[in-house]
Amino acid sequence: MTAHTGKRYVIIGNGIAGTTCAQELRKNDLSCEIWLITNEPYPLYNRVSLKRLLDGVLPEQKVMMRDLAWHESQRITLLRETYVTHVNTHEKVVYLDHGGPLAYDALLVASGGWPNRLDAPGIEGTPHIYTFMTLDDTKRIIGRALESKAAITTGGSYMAYDLTEGLSKRGVHVTWLMRGPFWLRRTLDAEGGRLVDEIVARHGVSVEHGEEIREVIVRDGAPRGVIGTSGREYEGGLIGLGVGLTLNHAFLRETPVARDKGVITDEYLETNVPGVFAAGDVAEFYDPILGAHRTLGTWDNALSHGRVAAINMAGGREAYLDVPTRSSPIFDTNIVAMGLFEVTDPAVEAIQRAAPGERSMTDYRRFFFRENKLVGAVFLGSPKGRKKVVELIRAGAAYRTVSERESLFEVR
Ligand SMILES: Cc1cc2nc3c(=O)[nH]c(=O)nc-3n(C[C@H](O)[C@H](O)[C@H](O)COP(=O)(O)OP(=O)(O)OC[C@H]3O[C@@H](n4cnc5c(N)ncnc54)[C@H](O)[C@@H]3O)c2cc1C
Repeated sequence: MTAHTGKRYVIIGNGIAGTTCAQELRKNDLSCEIWLITNEPYPLYNRVSLKRLLDGVLPEQKVMMRDLAWHESQRITLLRETYVTHVNTHEKVVYLDHGGPLAYDALLVASGGWPNRLDAPGIEGTPHIYTFMTLDDTKRIIGRALESKAAITTGGSYMAYDLTEGLSKRGVHVTWLMRGPFWLRRTLDAEGGRLVDEIVARHGVSVEHGEEIREVIVRDGAPRGVIGTSGREYEGGLIGLGVGLTLNHAFLRETPVARDKGVITDEYLETNVPGVFAAGDVAEFYDPILGAHRTLGTWDNALSHGRVAAINMAGGREAYLDVPTRSSPIFDTNIVAMGLFEVTDPAVEAIQRAAPGERSMTDYRRFFFRENKLVGAVFLGSPKGRKKVVELIRAGAAYRTVSERESLFEVR
């Protein structure tokens, strides 16, 4: 049933979590006020598609998901290029860098994260050193790639990988520096990492492990390359950084809202302060399937969070109960991760196997268990069986013996 409450909802962040929440709030309440705030200049665009824009396979207009007319038709007030400086949860007010303070009845924090920069000589003030998070980042990277022969990327994150592949597909020779012994070290093991190295090397990328940027070599005001921590020099006129995200919740520092890595919520996405919710990348939410709090940087998770947060902000009571998946290309193959796949908990056990797959590729699978329950998995190569595995994670059955666990390698 559609309500007419006249309530005012304020949402910080117009990514997929914030915009979905605004849309759902409007669907269920015709007279509420909805304010959506972003420091970026654009209405919602698809961050996942930025990779294909960088690759050169998707035009910019296909990345956009909403326009200003849509916000008008939904009566959602979108404040662009507006930065939330702080929040007072006692008075229920959000403060902005320009414009008056904004009172709210319920608040959603959906502010995602911003990529970390590196602190090394030569970086500060030098152009053509990029992180890869926004549409504007992507346009700048493409502009520089078109005039570059060689680039250096650094980091063991998805962002570092996406930069590496995108630049390589643009015909730029990429040297990828990684501090750790393999990519996604919280998800893969050494064998999975070696397979990824093989794939990228086949596509002309040079990978250097145990190596970080010690210094950027600057000539005539532009980067010419870097010196690694090993002392070796690498050539490149464009530098891509993929060294992790810091979640954006510093504007809550004067509030009693509990924060750790992210903004801590229960399974209803509500924080310890009634009426204040968090969703998407920035939420450190309670996951009932896992029985623990977690953060997660995936599109589908942020979208579902936005929907559930809208229900609960409007007075409903729906738990967020999902087995999230993240799927992305690795040149001519794929990586799919399900459930818990960034493992830091020493109580999580893993088994893995690599086997010959189709098109002379290798299929690598890794399964994660906690207290004998299957809690997550990652597939490199064929994604066959992923839906079944998601169901098995959701079912929460016990896998006590080696043969019970190894039977998962056969799931198709
Ligand atoms: C290049 C790239 C590739 C990706 N590929 C995949 C993929 O293949 N699969 C997948 O599942 N996920 C992928 N992701 C991750 C996915 O895009 C994110 O998980 C998702 O977009 C998060 O949405 P969100 O709404 O939580 O936050 P965001 O989309 O980050 O939106 C938050 C918004 O809030 C704004 N904001 C922050 N602080 C303030 C403030 N103080 N005042 C005003 N505004 C503020 C931010 O600038 C931003 O616009 C990728 C991400 C990137 C960058």
